[in-house]
Amino acid sequence: MIFISAVNPLKSSVSLPKFSLAEILPWAIFIGLLLMLGIYFVGVEQGATAIFKGAYVHEFVHDSRHMLGFPCH
Ligand SMILES: [Zn+2]
Repeated sequence: MIFISAVNPLKSSVSLPKFSLAEILPWAIFIGLLLMLGIYFVGVEQGATAIFKGAYVHEFVHDSRHMLGFPCH
């Protein structure tokens, strides 16, 4: 059995939500900071650039570090 839709897909009345730059900008900055923080902890938090003493953070994100291709050991 074949169902034929009466709705023309070319004249769909679906409207996309519209956002202004002022609405998106704070979220873009927030997400950018989260990404930079994540990249820091996964890729650079070791040795001279470490915030926390010891290797706990490094060991916690070690597999992610290797998966993303950051130099490690
Ligand atoms: Zn490693």
